[in-house]
Amino acid sequence: MMIGHYAVALAGRRCRHTPPLWVFAAATQLLDIIWCVLIIAGIEHFAPAPGQTGTPLAFTDYPWSHSLAAALVWSGLTWLAARKLFAVNTRSAWLLALVVFSHWPLDLLVHRPDLPLWPGGPVVGLSLWDHPALEHWLESLMVAAGAAWWGMCLWSEGRSPWRAWIFGGVLIALFLAAGPGQPESPVIIGSFGLGFYLFVILLAWLVDRPWRRTANASQ
Ligand SMILES: [Zn+2]
Repeated sequence: MMIGHYAVALAGRRCRHTPPLWVFAAATQLLDIIWCVLIIAGIEHFAPAPGQTGTPLAFTDYPWSHSLAAALVWSGLTWLAARKLFAVNTRSAWLLALVVFSHWPLDLLVHRPDLPLWPGGPVVGLSLWDHPALEHWLESLMVAAGAAWWGMCLWSEGRSPWRAWIFGGVLIALFLAAGPGQPESPVIIGSFGLGFYLFVILLAWLVDRPWRRTANASQ
């Protein structure tokens, strides 16, 4: 799953008293960001699968970024970092940890059975990528629903909902315009991925400005 993860970021951002959208945009893709770093470092691996629907990559080895156990650990570390390093209030820290974890069940829905339950453990996946048209609709609708939700929140705060629609619209347009992709080297795939995630984080920061300092005050 690609842009569908951002529906969770939009839902998590909600209204007042949550961290800004760019933090949720980073949190919802944290597992993929870690994966990009680990494939560039040669710690996790994939095999080329040209012509395969959904992704031109076969995810042969990614226990530290994409096992269920790893997702739980990264979510826990997010909670700890939010509380101890950034003094985020308890509710928002739980919300961020939940958004980080949400990546795994959403990947479970689309991936072929390649997601390990723990490093070296059995692999699972519900294979929605085998139905690419349905999968594209689902991801686009998820983002549209998330944008509508955050748009209503903005409206209720007296802020313009166009921010939500620009964010959702850019994501959906990029997603539908993108081709199936080609299996490239880990450095190229990882760098492209990091570039995309950074772009979305910047976009989220832009559309959510100005961020009111009081919105994230510790309680
Ligand atoms: Zn993923």
